[in-house]
Amino acid sequence: MSIKIGVLAVQGAFIEHINALKKLNVEAVEIRQLSDLTNNEIHGLILPGGESTVMGKLLKELNIFGEMQKLIKDGLPVLGTCAGVILLAKTIANDEKTHLSTMDITVKRNAYGRQLGSFKTLGNFKGIGEIPMTFIRAPYIERVSENVEVLSVVNNQIVAAKQDNMIVTTFHPELTEDLKVHEYFVESI
Ligand code: GLN
Repeated sequence: MSIKIGVLAVQGAFIEHINALKKLNVEAVEIRQLSDLTNNEIHGLILPGGESTVMGKLLKELNIFGEMQKLIKDGLPVLGTCAGVILLAKTIANDEKTHLSTMDITVKRNAYGRQLGSFKTLGNFKGIGEIPMTFIRAPYIERVSENVEVLSVVNNQIVAAKQDNMIVTTFHPELTEDLKVHEYFVESI
């Protein structure tokens, strides 16, 4: 079976995800409107980094929100990176507004403050090993429920986790040459 993955392409770093999927010979489709979601039989979905408030707002304005939330709740595999994690979180520690709200995690937006706003490091990712991680005004995961598996901890903060069909990384795997996180996601499908 050939796999087709939708990448939310309304704002943020979606091109880089599409390029990473292409390198893995996986078909990528841009999700810009509701029909992109309903007319393509996608086997997975990527929510990229960007600005979660803007993306959340656009999801509603473009009328994608309800269908996307339903597909995720029904088990569509999803990879959320950086702002994508914020879109999936049920609780945002420093924001009253939540978005798709499907994952039992609490995230803190812009969690590293101004000075450490953006940084690169090597971190260990469960089942993959050591990989490069790029953080850009990143959130971290403050708390996870029992049904959430922690996949990576950097500087004592949770930076990757998995719950059922949802995998999240607070760093940007699409901004490095390393394709292991995308591979991990595709294999999970
Ligand atoms: N700071 C952004 C937000 O809160 C996330 C940053 C990113 O995706 N690189 O939505």
